[in-house]
Amino acid sequence: MTATTTATTATTATTRVPRRAQASHPSGPKPAPAADPETTREQALAVARRVTDPEMPMLTLEDLGVLRGVAVSEDGAVTVTITPTYSGCPAMATMRDDLVRSLGEAGLAATVRVALSPAWSSDWITDRGRRALADHGLSAPGPAPARSGPVALSLLPTRRSLHCPRCGSGDVELTSEFGATSCKALYRCTSCLEPFEHVKEI
Ligand SMILES: [Zn+2]
Repeated sequence: MTATTTATTATTATTRVPRRAQASHPSGPKPAPAADPETTREQALAVARRVTDPEMPMLTLEDLGVLRGVAVSEDGAVTVTITPTYSGCPAMATMRDDLVRSLGEAGLAATVRVALSPAWSSDWITDRGRRALADHGLSAPGPAPARSGPVALSLLPTRRSLHCPRCGSGDVELTSEFGATSCKALYRCTSCLEPFEHVKEI
């Protein structure tokens, strides 16, 4: 009974492949059954990994550390988990919509879940993401501050040791603690005079 059910399912999912061809090549590549959760998960993960950040499109959500995981239930429902860089990040809605649309275009109905714990850290930006930032003239964050114990609050600008992404000089000055987005600060290189953005450490 089980074998009959399996054969029926396989035939339904592979209507373009004659049954005789399948039977005579049992060790050949087999099309993935539509209902296999692990195959669906791998497919969904491959799609989700290609979705880029709307504000820094040189980074994928995976490079940014925002994409936390993809899960598929037994009934094939896809759930993508993301963690916002900042709790008030206005790009979150766009990230969610981009994920749902991209997965939908791949034939996968997905739900996006936002996980706030553990909180995102700039340490989660991948090495590939850091290289992409530098390639586009942005300064990548240094190590994030320690999270344990009391949090010191300062009214002074955060001190950072940076290098100009254009010429490599360490002679830089802060021009604004906030850039086009709250996750970036504005700097200027006093050697080559190039202004640049720095992705903050959090
Ligand atoms: Zn410079």
